[in-house]
Amino acid sequence: MNTKPILGVSACLLGQPVRFDGGHKKARYITETLSEYFELMPVCPEVEAGLGVPRPTIQLRQNPENGEVRLINPRLADANITDSMRSHYKRKVEGMANLAGYILKKGSPTCGMERVPVIVDDNGYRRHEGVGIFAQELISRWPLLPVEEEGRLNDSQIRENFFERVYALQNWRSIENPETNVKGFIEFHASYKLLIMSRGSHYYQELGRMVAGTTKNSLVETREAYIRQFMEIMSIRPSRNRQVNVLQHLLGYFKRDLDSSDKQELLALFDSYRRQEIPLITPVTLLRHHLRRLPNPYLEMQRYLAPCPEQLALRSYLT
Ligand code: SF4
Repeated sequence: MNTKPILGVSACLLGQPVRFDGGHKKARYITETLSEYFELMPVCPEVEAGLGVPRPTIQLRQNPENGEVRLINPRLADANITDSMRSHYKRKVEGMANLAGYILKKGSPTCGMERVPVIVDDNGYRRHEGVGIFAQELISRWPLLPVEEEGRLNDSQIRENFFERVYALQNWRSIENPETNVKGFIEFHASYKLLIMSRGSHYYQELGRMVAGTTKNSLVETREAYIRQFMEIMSIRPSRNRQVNVLQHLLGYFKRDLDSSDKQELLALFDSYRRQEIPLITPVTLLRHHLRRLPNPYLEMQRYLAPCPEQLALRSYLT
């Protein structure tokens, strides 16, 4: 199995000259940083659907008669290409079961995930409320797949949340013999305990009720319901207070072994983090240091301590 998670990416973001005018929209963060940690799979849905380069710009337009949003190629006699493109994309996304995430180009009538301009009248008035036709098919076929737009990844919290979900899905898929491996299922849940708690302790209890009592007979059904709810919970962005609750919970595991100055040091860091003076990575790094000195197999399995490769520099922001 490929150990690097595979991300689908709008091909123009990777510098491929596939835009309507033969240009691209290369995003260096993707080509230079993400390419080290992920296998990037370029897709230009418009070129793959046979529109060619260069090509006329296509648009989302609202039908004034019934409000339906259609994909229009203004150069064609039969300008409404919605159905033909949609059926092409339905087939295309079927082959994307192995993706762990997707980065889409914003604003595109094909790739845009949200707020895509939709022309609503003959004067060209636009409302930014559309979703690209390819993005619609992708999200509807693979609702668990973490999907983001390149521009939104500039937001540290969105970026962190996206990659935590990508790695969570990858880890879920790496459970061996998933349809019979009850132990692997339970271990997955246990290893995500603190990340789930960072979204809310009650979520860990809710998911725990699903896991408890799972047998080989009920595993397939329970797994399906579990991963749906798990990925939904993982899409919640943890508040600072919830993160501090998790840090304090972690400290509880060391309470007998750390001396009081070590504990005071950690508590002071938790407070500084709560006051937005230091990033989350600072107390987490110190906790990891104590864990190396004081091994604890249960904590060592916690994905919370290293949900993604360190070099992605997540958890390093103050706001
Ligand atoms: S936004 Fe999507 S359809 Fe448009 S050029 Fe980029 S990859 Fe192709």
